[in-house]
Amino acid sequence: MSTYTVINPATARPVTEVELYDGAATDAAIERAAAAFPRWRDMAPGERATLLRRFAAVVDAHVEELAELEMRNAGHTWANARWEAGNVRDVLNYYAATPERLFGQQIPTAGGINVTFHEPLGVVGIIVPWNFPMPIAGWGLTPALASGNTVVLKPAELTPLTAVRIGELALEAGVPEGVLQVLPGRGVVVGERFVTNPLVRKVCFTGSTAVGKQIMAGCADQVKRCTLELGGKSANVVFADADLAKAAAAAPYAVFDNAGQDCCARSRILVERSVYEEFLGLLEPAVKAVSVLDPSDEASEMGPLISARHRERVRGYVDAAVIAYTGHAPDGDGFWMAPTVVLADSPRDAIWREEVFGPVVAVMPFADEAEAVQLANDTEFGLSGSIYTRDVGRALRVARGIEAGNLSINSHASVRYWTPFGGFKQSGLGRELGPDAPHAFTDVKNVFIASD
Ligand code: NAD
Repeated sequence: MSTYTVINPATARPVTEVELYDGAATDAAIERAAAAFPRWRDMAPGERATLLRRFAAVVDAHVEELAELEMRNAGHTWANARWEAGNVRDVLNYYAATPERLFGQQIPTAGGINVTFHEPLGVVGIIVPWNFPMPIAGWGLTPALASGNTVVLKPAELTPLTAVRIGELALEAGVPEGVLQVLPGRGVVVGERFVTNPLVRKVCFTGSTAVGKQIMAGCADQVKRCTLELGGKSANVVFADADLAKAAAAAPYAVFDNAGQDCCARSRILVERSVYEEFLGLLEPAVKAVSVLDPSDEASEMGPLISARHRERVRGYVDAAVIAYTGHAPDGDGFWMAPTVVLADSPRDAIWREEVFGPVVAVMPFADEAEAVQLANDTEFGLSGSIYTRDVGRALRVARGIEAGNLSINSHASVRYWTPFGGFKQSGLGRELGPDAPHAFTDVKNVFIASD
């Protein structure tokens, strides 16, 4: 096994070394997961539910530790990192109700009865990106375990620490060996084995659209199930009749949270032309007020980017764009970048079309409602978006018109663990979270019982 040096992005200093799984170790872990499956599947529903609740309680007792780990590994602020660890706990508690409620149907038939079962698939492989290591791990592993599958989970190369710890906490809570295994490793090694090893019956992937397409193509070979949560380029549409002060105050947090490394980032702001200048004027102080500080400072609202390489990529976009104004960022060895507002000239600009995944937002005026919807939809992505208006009819028309999976009206909140989350178009396939997520980790079996 080789090792990987984890770097603190706020200081550029090493944190620790992590051993990486190779192909043979990955296959051995998958075999252990397959061996653990029958007992986990056949466990009494109430017993599996109890173990998930215990797992939630153990995570709850370690929220501070997990948050501190994420702060050092991913540069997340205290507030975000605590929310993220708490989200793992909440998702575990929510889906702990699943085992006793994985209902099938009874469908009227002549000559007997017809019932359906939601059968677990077997081993599920979960591949996680670096931007939200804890929540995204939890959104996959929890409904998969709750519906009776065993899980192998690969964190991103850059951010393995919290996932490894969560795997240890599962064992501490009494989840049997082999039911949840965390395998740090490279995408092309460990992730690739999830796709090719036939014992893995489903791949649940979150990451870039480019890699997601490879995963989907690879899964086709075995007609392996896959869920894809991919990139985004979401629009924040501000109409002239909106509460402009509220919209401008919220806009920075809709895109600069987690330094813009958020698949739901509203990285395109569309403003009705009659209030364009006024909105830009209100946005400037809001952007400058964002506290970009070392994430260990409780007052920090935005930390660094994840790596030097990623910062170079983000800077490349900004260098080619017209900057309206920027906020502040610390000097120092970390991968810092100030929140940046750019003016987009044309919907063909790279900064308007491509996922920058950094603290950069592009602003463009629009003439009317029809043009707003057309511009919002002029993208291959369709993950999230916001609409600011006081007109309820318009809010509904535009929300129905925008091709995206998660829309917020007069808000930028996208994620609640009890509502479905996922993308239209090239932002993804399938849904996570919400009441139906466990069904994504089962196949429906139909059984007819003759009564004569
Ligand atoms: P990435 O696609 O480079 O990597 C994601 C994961 O896939 C990592 O664990 C990586 O090791 C693994 N991987 C890479 N190549 C692989 C291969 N050939 N086979 C199997 N696994 C492989 O993405 P990233 O840079 O880590 O994350 C950023 C991207 O994730 C952005 O595009 C962002 O929008 C997206 N994202 C989407 C959501 C969502 O829910 N839609 C949420 C968070 C992030």
